[in-house]
Amino acid sequence: MTLEEIVPSTPESQFGFATKAIHVGSAHDPHSGAVISPISLSTTFAQSSPANPIGVYEYSRSQNPNREAFEKVIASLENGKYALAFSSGSAATANILQSLAQGSHVISVGDVYGGTHRYFTKVANTHGIKTDFTNDIITDLPNLIQDNTKLVWVETPSNPTLSITDISKVSQLLKSINPNIFLVVDNTFLSPYIQNPLNHGADIVVHSVTKYINGHSDVVMGVLATNSQILYERLLFLQNAIGAIPSPFDSWLAHRGVKTLHLRASRASSNALAIASLLQNHSNVLAVNYPGLKTHKNYKVVQKQHRDALGGGMISFRIKGGAKGAAKFVSSTKIFTLAESLGGIESLLEVPAVMTHAGIPVAEREKAGVFDDLIRLSVGVEDENDLLQDIKQALELSQLK
Ligand SMILES: *Cc1c(COP(=O)(O)O)cnc(C)c1O
Repeated sequence: MTLEEIVPSTPESQFGFATKAIHVGSAHDPHSGAVISPISLSTTFAQSSPANPIGVYEYSRSQNPNREAFEKVIASLENGKYALAFSSGSAATANILQSLAQGSHVISVGDVYGGTHRYFTKVANTHGIKTDFTNDIITDLPNLIQDNTKLVWVETPSNPTLSITDISKVSQLLKSINPNIFLVVDNTFLSPYIQNPLNHGADIVVHSVTKYINGHSDVVMGVLATNSQILYERLLFLQNAIGAIPSPFDSWLAHRGVKTLHLRASRASSNALAIASLLQNHSNVLAVNYPGLKTHKNYKVVQKQHRDALGGGMISFRIKGGAKGAAKFVSSTKIFTLAESLGGIESLLEVPAVMTHAGIPVAEREKAGVFDDLIRLSVGVEDENDLLQDIKQALELSQLK
């Protein structure tokens, strides 16, 4: 008997995160005994009589063994009954928004991922879906809700200012005002190892698998998980109808990646905490945003919402010297690579105002705390000391006139 047969992918499972990450969806191949499942490239599957497939698969857009295995492990790690994988995090977002009727209203936190903001304001709006943004969702929610509000979108920690939203507070507020509005949480920045939004009342949790879940900067993919059968069936239909599905190879790679997520996420968090502490005490730094610091504005929520109050691998900070200071810093590091994206084994850094968040109007971006001098770090899993030295020397270099 395999562990997968003993461990149903249900929230009640008594197994820990690491055991589930490694074993759920990873049954031995029944034909060869292969411990690691083969990549199933076939686009179609034989039937014994019309409409009577030999196995459970018919056509690979609808379902494929590698995608199914990956969806199983993610459902288990997010404590959800169901998961659906997509060709990118953006495709997962698009499927969720496509499930809303024309004329629906959405409320979103202000400093969302740039691509999510773009989808709300340049794509969903053309299908008659209007989105209001707020930088203080708990205060503003009761005033923003309209009769046609269908969805609330939260990203916590937010990108790139790492502000924290109390998911259970938003969920309780929604339930008290209109329980039919569903709450979506983008959990990309923390990964299921550090935060499980469904446990705090979210209806759907969504990830860019491209980041921590795959974790090796070599796959673009997305996934969502839910406990609601109604939402699952609606989104399953759209997954097949729209067809933005991941390839078997990408599903297999992402499944391999998630098996070490717990190791990577905890190492990235301890490295990031050391760097955030260094930044906080440096004279060339104006402000540091890191949820793992006790000085973070919402540290109480972090303690309640994150596993072991881990801060994750993402940091942002404002450097002295404005846009110039930021440009000098990001071109002075030797281990941190100047690049978009995050959540991989290697450390990256970027300037959101001119890179990931360049598409957001200046006034709106600055209201959300994304100033020209803000630098975002994605701290990898290299040696802590090497990363600290790299940051230190870049801070010194960028101080020079
Ligand atoms: C990258 C990212 C996305 C979009 O995912 P893709 O896989 O790039 O389409 C969505 N949300 C967050 C927080 C992200 O970092």
